[in-house]
This record gives sequence, C-alpha cells and structure tokens, in this order.
Amino acid sequence: MNDVPIPKLAGVCGWPVHHSLSPVLHGHWLRESGIRGAYIPFMVKPWEARDAFVSLKRTNIAGVNVTLPLKGDAFLAADERTEAAQRIGAANCLYKSGRKLIAHNTDLDGFAAPLLEARSRQELSQLSALVIGAGGAAKAVVGALVGLGVPEIMLSNRTDARADALVAEAGLPNFHAVPWSERQRVVRRAGLIINASAAGMSGFDPLDLKLGEAPPFALAYDLVYTPEITPFIADAREVKLDTIGGLAMLIGQARPSFELFYGRSAPEGDPSDILRRALHTGRR
Ligand code: NAP
Repeated sequence: MNDVPIPKLAGVCGWPVHHSLSPVLHGHWLRESGIRGAYIPFMVKPWEARDAFVSLKRTNIAGVNVTLPLKGDAFLAADERTEAAQRIGAANCLYKSGRKLIAHNTDLDGFAAPLLEARSRQELSQLSALVIGAGGAAKAVVGALVGLGVPEIMLSNRTDARADALVAEAGLPNFHAVPWSERQRVVRRAGLIINASAAGMSGFDPLDLKLGEAPPFALAYDLVYTPEITPFIADAREVKLDTIGGLAMLIGQARPSFELFYGRSAPEGDPSDILRRALHTGRR
C-alpha cells in the first residue's frame, strides 16, 4: 500500500443541484488554502435520499451540504442531530464523527454572522423584526433571531395558514403571526425587515412591500441572491436603509461547513466577487 494521502472529499446533495454555488465557493477556498481536495455536486433523488445519506458512512466522503428538497431527509437519516439542526428540524450539513453521521444546520450561524456585523447584540435586543415567508429559510431566520435575543418577531406569509402553523409550532411568547393583509402596517415599527420568502428571486414576482414607511434606522435583509440586487434591496437603498443581500448568508453558512469537512477554517477574505462572476456567467 502506498501512503500518499487521498484527497479530502465533500460535496452538496440536491435535486436539482446544478444551480448551487457551493462548489464554486468551496472550490475557491480549497485552492486558496492549498488543500488537496474536491467539493462535488451530487444529484440525489428525493425518494433515495435517506439511503444515499446513510451510505456516506461507507465512503471516504467527509460530509455533504444538503439543499432543497432534501433537508428533512438529511435530518432523519443521521445518527445524531446537533442543537442547531434540532431547532429547525432540518439539516443543511451532514458530517461524519467516528462511525456516526451527524446532522447539523449552519443556516442559523450563516444568517446571524452578517447581521452581527451590521448591528450589535445590544441593538438587536431592542428591535422588532418582521420576517416575510414561512418556508425552511424563515424557520432558520426565526431560530437565529430567537438565539440573538430579538425581543419581538413578527412573521407574515402570503399564505396566512403557513405563518400561523409555524408560530403555533414554535409556541414562543415573543413570536407572532401578522396577517398578510396587515404586513404594511407593521413595517412602520420594524427595525429589522427580512425577506425569507422566494419573492424577488429570478422567475418570481417581487416582494409586495413598501419600505418607504420603515423607520430610518431599519435594516433590510434579503435572503434571495439571484439576482444579487433584488427589487427589495433596490427599494431599501432608494429610501436609504442599511441592507444585507443573500450572498452574505450564503458565504456565512458555508464557512462552518468547510471547517467540518476539511478540518481548517475557510480563508478570511470576502469571496463575493467569485460568486458574482459565477452568477453572471452561469458557470459552476
Ligand atoms: P420555500 O420553503 O419554498 O418557501 C418559499 C416561501 O416564499 C413561502 O413562504 C412562499 O409563500 C413564499 N413566496 C413565494 N413567492 C412569493 C411571492 N411572490 N410573494 C410572497 N411570498 C412568496 O423556500 P425556502 O427554502 O424557505 O427559501 C426561501 C428563499 O430563501 C429562496 O429564494 C432561497 O433561495 C433563499 N435562501 C437563501 C439562503 C442564503 O444562503 N442566502 C439560504 C436559504 C434560502 P407561500 O407559503 O404563500 O407559498
């Protein structure tokens, strides 16, 4: 047997997965770090996902990120679940620890990291947040806001019943649903306005929310990053609000995954330009 170390392997599983920017980002970090490794997109059929995830234990793949619609299957396939994964009931990261497969969720930290660069914990502890959406992303956002000590979280979703269900499931005193028809009224007192819906994404209608009535100290945070400047971010800039775009969270959630897979922190520089180029050229 020769003892040349084999490359460190990780990847992203999805169905589809061709649109994922994660291979671009991790590939860039691998080259920058001089790590001999690869990060591969894996097409995994939803009805075979759990078997595929369990079989990771029989390979030398260190772990995988998981994207839609497989995050629930990843959570269920694991032997153990971290506190972050349990808080959301979904995993965007599976890694191996000894003979066990661990389900983790880096979306909470990924969302929080850029927010903490824009607002201190002290400031966040005095704000009301309005979150738009009621899918997996909104769930991660709410989990992160609770962890950051935001004292009031209002959730509004185009389909009211989904927002009501999410709020009822969480059962937290400072977290309540706002009917979709009343979302505009609460913008006036929201210091943090977060689009965690798919509105504004290429191919979707823009978010129907006027930011001109937001307080001047409000921060507008959009999770959508295709296009990079969404109508929501453009509106926020127009009325001079601070903004955070979706690329920041994408990078934020990838950093802890890189460390778990390759055993080293991701390089510190801002890789946004690499991602922008990939978005504009369509090359992955
Ligand atoms: P999801 O589970 O499919 O939920 C989609 C949500 O968007 C639902 O609440 C849906 O409302 C709402 N929606 C869709 N079109 C809308 C419109 N025109 N107006 C208002 N609401 C609309 O998706 P998800 O996983 O939560 O992801 C949501 C978005 O976040 C996606 O664009 C995704 O790319 C982005 N995201 C970004 C990151 C990042 O790292 N930056 C991470 C995770 C997700 P209904 O219930 O009424 O259908």
